[in-house]
Amino acid sequence: MDVTLTLMCNNRCSICARRDYLSMIACRSKKDMARAVRAARHHSDNIVLSGGEATLLKNLKDVVLLCRALKFTHIGLISNGRLLKNMPFAVELADSGIDDFAISLHSFDEEVHDEMTRRPGSARESKKGVRNLLKLSEQRAISFRINLVLAKANAETIPCTIRRLSHWGVNNFILAEQIILAGKNQNTLSLEEIRMRLEAVNDIALEEGVTIRLRGFAPCLMPGKIKKFLSHEPHNVNTFEKPGAKKNAYLRSFQNIFTKTDECRGCHHNATCPGLQKGYLHI
Ligand code: SF4
Repeated sequence: MDVTLTLMCNNRCSICARRDYLSMIACRSKKDMARAVRAARHHSDNIVLSGGEATLLKNLKDVVLLCRALKFTHIGLISNGRLLKNMPFAVELADSGIDDFAISLHSFDEEVHDEMTRRPGSARESKKGVRNLLKLSEQRAISFRINLVLAKANAETIPCTIRRLSHWGVNNFILAEQIILAGKNQNTLSLEEIRMRLEAVNDIALEEGVTIRLRGFAPCLMPGKIKKFLSHEPHNVNTFEKPGAKKNAYLRSFQNIFTKTDECRGCHHNATCPGLQKGYLHI
């Protein structure tokens, strides 16, 4: 279960949907965080601490120690990895109890990454964080993966990003569909471009022998034949409901970004698929 500890962030990603979607459920105080973590324990054995950027929180270690005291089986962290460039800090988090790190990197190409984060120098810091976690994972039982989002700005560099990181030793990736916020008129990939990019990712997974989970893409956008190392999962909305937050309103607003098309009528995924994002169809 994912607990959104904060909306504070040191990046300003052009593709970030969390500020809009999670402002209803994000924690606002230390008390709020402790309450959310305790309550999450009733729902799950595993917890994922996310943001915003949770590593900016001065009390993150205390939150992790609380998770440990509550005996969560696994404690995960989703981070942009910038502050993990500092190895003692990465060690401190692992020592506190985080055993599953997911680092969001938009591209191995630093210019592309920095343009997307709108924070010059962020790529270099995130890559240093990745290096540190790879080193750490050689000495400790921590799992590690890279989170990527497929967007217009990084689409061309995704295969190269996976290849370069695989050569560093990363063997686990999630490639998620971009959440296209209504009314934002974002410069999005066409459906054809998405299909083409996912085919390329399918090939790179096989070539490099890395595991890539494709998250959120409608089944009709998926590669013709999913090869051994590629798998598919729906958008993950298993976020913790902060007391007093309107999670149902949040889920409704999330569902509202999808729509069905004429093709959906005869599709055997119709009952389980939310449809295509309206943003692709410019509606
Ligand atoms: S239901 Fe519609 S959007 Fe979903 S896979 Fe089928 S055709 Fe694609």
